[in-house]
Amino acid sequence: MKFSDVVGHTEIKDKLRKSVAEGRISHAQLFLGYEGSGNLPLARAYAQYVLCSNRLEIDSCGVCSSCQMVTKMAHPDVHYAFPVVTPSSKKEPSLSDDFIEQFRNIMLAEPYSNYSDWVEYAFKEGKNAIINVRQAEEIAKKLRLKAYEGSYKFMIIWLPEQMNIQAGNKLLKLIEEPPPQTVLLLVSDNDDQILSTILSRTQLIKLKKISDFDMMEGLLARYRLSMDRAREIVNISDGNFSQALTLAEYDEDHEKHFEMFVQWMRACFTLDIATLMALGDELHNASKDQQKSFLLYCMHMMREALMNNFDTMLMRVTENERNFLIKFSAFVHEGNIEQIASLLEKAVYYIDRNASVKIMFMDISLQFQDLLKDRSAFAI
Ligand SMILES: [Zn+2]
Repeated sequence: MKFSDVVGHTEIKDKLRKSVAEGRISHAQLFLGYEGSGNLPLARAYAQYVLCSNRLEIDSCGVCSSCQMVTKMAHPDVHYAFPVVTPSSKKEPSLSDDFIEQFRNIMLAEPYSNYSDWVEYAFKEGKNAIINVRQAEEIAKKLRLKAYEGSYKFMIIWLPEQMNIQAGNKLLKLIEEPPPQTVLLLVSDNDDQILSTILSRTQLIKLKKISDFDMMEGLLARYRLSMDRAREIVNISDGNFSQALTLAEYDEDHEKHFEMFVQWMRACFTLDIATLMALGDELHNASKDQQKSFLLYCMHMMREALMNNFDTMLMRVTENERNFLIKFSAFVHEGNIEQIASLLEKAVYYIDRNASVKIMFMDISLQFQDLLKDRSAFAI
């Protein structure tokens, strides 16, 4: 993975390159991003850049044997630790290495995979994956080994926020007394749950939100999309590139989402139970990703409806959507937007936990019917 494969973050890439050029490679760094920020791809690109034997100023070469091994996630000096679920049949807690093949599969197929993609792929649904104390000991053990290639040894710890306290304390010791020539890269989406003692001892590499321009460029390099559609996806995703990729995957569904949203809102207004049931069935039959992508789309439309009340220039929508929202926005206001958003957010949460989609959809619909009052002027 080269820097050029990582979407956006130009400033941070510059900073990282500069620190390498000046020989300032801090032994514990926190790549703090947010879901979909690409902090893991960036950490991988950084390790590749440091280890490249034919490094160019701007990027790793991508072809030397070191680059090739890092790219395949098979470099003997680049280790990974990540959250796992211990099968109930096992007495001892599982190590990341027990699942390294699955981890490689998913991250090579899609470097922007997030925590829920990982848990769903490797452990099926609804499980809480953690970095346990046995894994923390394993990290220390691996870093004490001599670097295979004689240069730096990297340990990329993905989602240290999933570490329990005992594991965190072990890690802290390692950060305080690091073996020579080792680099710990903590790749976090949320620093709230990381021990403050760890935070204070790591060099912070804080990722900003990916700009719309960079998101557009990244999407268009990967998918054949119209400019209009790419812009739409960028608007909905709001800096989350993992989400943008998921949306692009389901591109053909987008028009359907819009139609379904319009149909849904009409049925809520008129309390058309038959249509609500039919829509609930339709959603029930869609894949989990499609269900979530539809609900995220609805959230986006609701927010845009609210924005329209303040400033029409701010609306991040297409022509069709704008025409609909101009009338619809009369019903979305500061008094109900929070409840609307929270209903949709909860729905996404429950989908992840295998709730009955039909019942949930009907329940939200009835609450929407109540929330979106003042229907008299509604003619969409
Ligand atoms: Zn190279």
